Amino acid sequence: MSVAEKIKTVQVQDEFRTCLVCGYDMGFQTSVVRAGAAVRVILICPECGARFDIGWTVNLPKE
Ligand SMILES: [Zn+2]
Repeated sequence: MSVAEKIKTVQVQDEFRTCLVCGYDMGFQTSVVRAGAAVRVILICPECGARFDIGWTVNLPKE
């Protein structure tokens, strides 16, 4: 199973701070996944490790 297949896509409403898998509600840790020239910022539940993609993409400075 690839990295992308295990990441759940989420549409953020007013706030996204509660894990949809385990209910932990104190927010998320982050990871970045390379997406061409940019990176996707992935949210990781610190309680159960579930990963969520809210469509957050960041451009990094060129070296
Ligand atoms: Zn969780």
